[in-house]
Amino acid sequence: MRAAAIIPAAGRGERMGAAIPKALTPLLGKPLLAWAVDALLESEAFSEVYVAVPAGKEDSFRGGLIEANPRVRFIAGGATRQESVANCLAEISAECDIVAVHDAARPLLTASICLDVLNRARETGAAIAAVPAKDTVKLCSEDGIVTDTPDRSRVWLVQTPQCFGRELLVSAHEKARAEGFVLATDDASLVERLGAPVSVVMGSYENIKVTTPEDLLVCEQILRKRRKEK
Ligand code: C5P
Repeated sequence: MRAAAIIPAAGRGERMGAAIPKALTPLLGKPLLAWAVDALLESEAFSEVYVAVPAGKEDSFRGGLIEANPRVRFIAGGATRQESVANCLAEISAECDIVAVHDAARPLLTASICLDVLNRARETGAAIAAVPAKDTVKLCSEDGIVTDTPDRSRVWLVQTPQCFGRELLVSAHEKARAEGFVLATDDASLVERLGAPVSVVMGSYENIKVTTPEDLLVCEQILRKRRKEK
């Protein structure tokens, strides 16, 4: 079974408040995107890696970012994360029957989590990395009134990678698009809309998503700790 990986990296990262795309933000001297690509390549599980980048910026991402690797291809992303993933999905070779999706905004992925999720998806068809919620979660109305408190023991905070059988993921994207559902924040939610089961695999509290500048400080500390442990 051959596997492909997709990295949506075409977001503007407005919550970072910086002029450069979030995926290019340096972390200990290396762009966030390069950390994510390196983790996927290190797992040695993927024969193809597709990176969705802002349309028109393919060359600058390719040139400035990552050491040339024949397995990595840069694809024009879309207006939404969902569209960026779909654009990459359309490019994957027919021999790949399993696909991992991993956000460029999660630079601290380890090869071990990647393989755990991929192996579970090989057994079940769909698997995602997640961690149990530490905080109590509230659902709120748009005007800020609490409407529900889910049982915390059943709340998981979802991460990437998320891995799926290729045909399942393609069908999930096609159905969502046909129904006008275009703003998915992850791919599992599209597969759930098909009614297919999605398995949860233990991710890591270190596999954080860089959204605002203080997340970078946390990433730096974790990377320094990892370097000391080596
Ligand atoms: O906006 P958010 O942080 O949820 O984005 C998650 C991931 O999706 C990021 O890695 C971002 O670069 C990517 N994205 C994309 N295309 C878009 C918007 C976001 O590839 N149009």
